Amino acid sequence: MLACASMTSQASVPELDLSVTINSGANDLSAEAILIVEAGKKYVFGLAPGLDVDTAEVDAVEVPVRKIGNAAQPRFELKLPKQFSAHQLRIRYHGHLLKLDPASDHRDTLASLPPMASVEGSFLPTGSGWYPEPGKFFTYRLTIQTSAEQIAVAPGTPGHEALTGDTRKAVFVMDHPIEGIDLMIGPYVLKERVVSINTATVTLRTYFHPDLADLAEGYLDAATTYLTRYSNQIGAYPYSHFSIVSSPLPTGLGISSLTYLGREVLKLPFIKTTSLGHEVLHNWWGNGVFVDPGQGNWSEGLTTFMADYTFKEDEGPEAAKAMRYGWLRDRQALPRG
Ligand SMILES: [Zn+2]
Repeated sequence: MLACASMTSQASVPELDLSVTINSGANDLSAEAILIVEAGKKYVFGLAPGLDVDTAEVDAVEVPVRKIGNAAQPRFELKLPKQFSAHQLRIRYHGHLLKLDPASDHRDTLASLPPMASVEGSFLPTGSGWYPEPGKFFTYRLTIQTSAEQIAVAPGTPGHEALTGDTRKAVFVMDHPIEGIDLMIGPYVLKERVVSINTATVTLRTYFHPDLADLAEGYLDAATTYLTRYSNQIGAYPYSHFSIVSSPLPTGLGISSLTYLGREVLKLPFIKTTSLGHEVLHNWWGNGVFVDPGQGNWSEGLTTFMADYTFKEDEGPEAAKAMRYGWLRDRQALPRG
């Protein structure tokens, strides 16, 4: 029933090696993707509207790129030679991203968003065509260049981080195969704390807008409590890092090894005792054991039961009963169909 990705470490060569330069003020992106694909007659990939391919190589030989989509849905095709069982592709592309609009409502932010940039924050979600998809679960190395005042964060283990003149470089390595890459960038203040969760060492980080920087310690304390709770209850935390990232959009997203929570939402005092625990738990249910979308989203129910409902049980039987009655009332209000 479940689409489970292997949690064992793979070979050190990532299936996608992606280098991206993003100018958040000008909304420009340029990138080079090196990916390994299995043999076949062709490789077809999409990019977000506004992005276009510069050059493509198959096994170190430059090849023509056939455009098979339109401006609203750019798609490209590369012919693959027959003689190898796998091919290394190198695709260079660039273009312009939409401006991120903080006025988008929560319903918009849960639906499929295009990659968007602004100096207040940039969000390039999984599946939005900001990189060529390998077409399966994959490991990756992501190198991001931004201006000095912008800090990038993505799922995975941070590698080399450097500031040279006005250019900031960050690397994230994901050696568990996952579904896709979400990239977030903003004018963040970064705080870090290394904690021991049972026998494992986990590095916690907050990437907060400057007006939220004072809240970081409280969030790091709360994240430690939840990671300990669920490690004891379920099993070891699947990643080496956990980050809490502030979003200019009113999001509440659980992403492998991090959570992306709205900047205004993070200011609410009860988020540390409610939503944060829910998003931490998604590292086990949804982003550790993955959901097969064709089978329904079982991870939301299980996460709600083991986080939101359990927190009410911690408060006492009356609080838990009130939550159960609320669910039943909501269900009664739904039309039968
Ligand atoms: Zn959830």
